Amino acid sequence: MSVKLSEVIKVIEVIAPKALAEVWDNVGLQMGSYQQPVKRILLTLDVTPSVIEEAVNEKADLIIAHHPFIFKGLKTLSQDNEKGRLIAKLIKNNIALYVAHTNLDKAEAGLNDFLARKLGLTSIRTLDPSNPEIFYKVVVYVPIDMTEKIIEVFGKNGAGAIGRYDFCTFHASGVGTFRPLLGSDPFIGQIDSIEKVMEDRVEAIVPGGLLKNLINQLKKNHPYEEMAYDVYPLENGRLLNQNGLGKIGLLKEAMPAADFCLYVKNKLKLSFLRGGGIPPGTVRRVALCSGAGADMIGIAKSQRADVLITGDLKHHDAQRAAESNFWVLDAGHFGTEKCVTECLKEIIMAGLGDGSPELITAKALKDYISIY
Ligand SMILES: [Zn+2]
Repeated sequence: MSVKLSEVIKVIEVIAPKALAEVWDNVGLQMGSYQQPVKRILLTLDVTPSVIEEAVNEKADLIIAHHPFIFKGLKTLSQDNEKGRLIAKLIKNNIALYVAHTNLDKAEAGLNDFLARKLGLTSIRTLDPSNPEIFYKVVVYVPIDMTEKIIEVFGKNGAGAIGRYDFCTFHASGVGTFRPLLGSDPFIGQIDSIEKVMEDRVEAIVPGGLLKNLINQLKKNHPYEEMAYDVYPLENGRLLNQNGLGKIGLLKEAMPAADFCLYVKNKLKLSFLRGGGIPPGTVRRVALCSGAGADMIGIAKSQRADVLITGDLKHHDAQRAAESNFWVLDAGHFGTEKCVTECLKEIIMAGLGDGSPELITAKALKDYISIY
């Protein structure tokens, strides 16, 4: 199915708003146009010459990557260097490029949530909630036969998303009054006469970043010339927030540390694991942070995790773990992030369903670390 690129981006950014990204990061649309049609998407961890070759051969119109392709300021697009040649190849083949990196890492239902579910964890919480978002309550008054439509507009534009639920709204009926004045073009009623109408008050919460678009979409779909609505700032943003680095959750059953290593290798399809620190007797409470997350050792220990799973473990990280009587496992940067393609597939399919463009996973994905 062909959809506009902006539609694909919208479903990703409802889950992983760009505002969540770290300040040093570079996420979002890196090449192409929001307006271009997309029929086939190549999902990848990295953008490499082989991945671009694959996108061309597979006739993909869009590459969605986790690691930014354009990261630091480009000084030249000369095709005498590799970056310039790759960019030219993408442009010649009309292939757009979109990146969801630390915003996807930190999203409540993003990569770390996917990884936690892949490891079979339950009662999943964010290890280090951050970026508390400001939430608003939006209330719209609407003729009762339009309520379903307004609920749909709320849900499709990111309002009423609470934890693992969306389309969370409330409505109650009452009587609205208004008087159309000279020059108005009322949907109901007569000029200069006070009108009484049975209306529903429909309400939902919305994150601040999505508020403006939501109001625009509501106005577009509301029958009245002047939509009556209220926007209330909420104090519970910090309480609702589950965006942030890492996750912590429980295994269904505790298991000995040695069994847990086999379990992780099996779940993440790894041939080996590295580790450091002191293994516990049994493992039940598991913390994880995809990519390079050894900085989370202190937080994981303070949250009574039995182990932290991450990648890119360094000598001094393992030393720190040992000194604090904690256990850390290194499942590899690649090992903890290769599932980003499955995570993106899940998000896009949930958002677009049967209307989704075809989704393919890059075969050229590889771990650049070798074990000899
Ligand atoms: Zn990474």
